Amino acid sequence: MEWQVDEAGRLSTFTLHQSLKFRDQYRFDKGEIEYARLETKGELEKVTVIGRVNSSFYQQARQAGLTPNQIQNLVSALQWRFDFGRQSHRGDQFAIQVDKEFIDNKPVSSGNISAMLYRAGDRDIFIYRHTDGHFYDEQGQSLDRALRRIPTAKRYRISSSFDPHRKHPITGRISPHNGTDFATPVGTSVLAAGDGVVVKARKHPLAGNYIVIKHGREYSTRYLHLHRILVKPGDHVSMGQRIALSGNTGRSTGPHLHFELLKYGHPVNAMKVPLPEAHPVPSQDRRVFERQAKRAKQALEQRLNG
Ligand SMILES: [Zn+2]
Repeated sequence: MEWQVDEAGRLSTFTLHQSLKFRDQYRFDKGEIEYARLETKGELEKVTVIGRVNSSFYQQARQAGLTPNQIQNLVSALQWRFDFGRQSHRGDQFAIQVDKEFIDNKPVSSGNISAMLYRAGDRDIFIYRHTDGHFYDEQGQSLDRALRRIPTAKRYRISSSFDPHRKHPITGRISPHNGTDFATPVGTSVLAAGDGVVVKARKHPLAGNYIVIKHGREYSTRYLHLHRILVKPGDHVSMGQRIALSGNTGRSTGPHLHFELLKYGHPVNAMKVPLPEAHPVPSQDRRVFERQAKRAKQALEQRLNG
């Protein structure tokens, strides 16, 4: 704490030092109180942490000093390229560059991750953060897809796969199964597979409550047997946005989510087809990005090799 008094002995400012970086200041002036949160800008320094996976990436990254939040960011940035749950193994190595802020030689925050090199066996995966805050690969390609294969926050068992020659479970006749069924309990959040516009949100005797979203010119997705619809036709939705609660409406043998991906109006197997990539680093930034990414990659390689 720190305070000042005027000639008459009245309190004029009172400052509470919350941390090296932040302090709350109150100024007292003619019966009014003015409040400001003051921030000290420290020095940004690149800190590299390295580790070798023993039990799990999460555990070793925690030991190396990353926060759960930072680890979650990496795992989700790489979800299309690398599945840490299944593909990371004992002996994998990682080097992660963090931009840390220091004041009086003391770190004042956990910092932002700017680059990671992950060595899974003989495969190197490298990502680098652009000034827009997103991670890209070293060529500046997006790590995201314009569409997700699974429209729920976690994976559910596939109770019926895409199958153009399937025998229908209720009628017994050959009737193509144009989508993938996920065994979601009633009330599971259904998420938009990509950015797009809702073109249908209504009830149908067979499909139950259902939604159709158009994603650009080529693709659309359909979500059937919903319990509750949370969007309406004309709504713009973004990837991962909650659009409905899954259910068991229409002609359905049990609670599930039927999810379809259509390309130029024809159903395709959402679990298998190659999906479009999201936008790369803009071309005017590309050269600078590539140069910085390359430098960061070399520095991390040296740490792993040396
Ligand atoms: Zn189905």
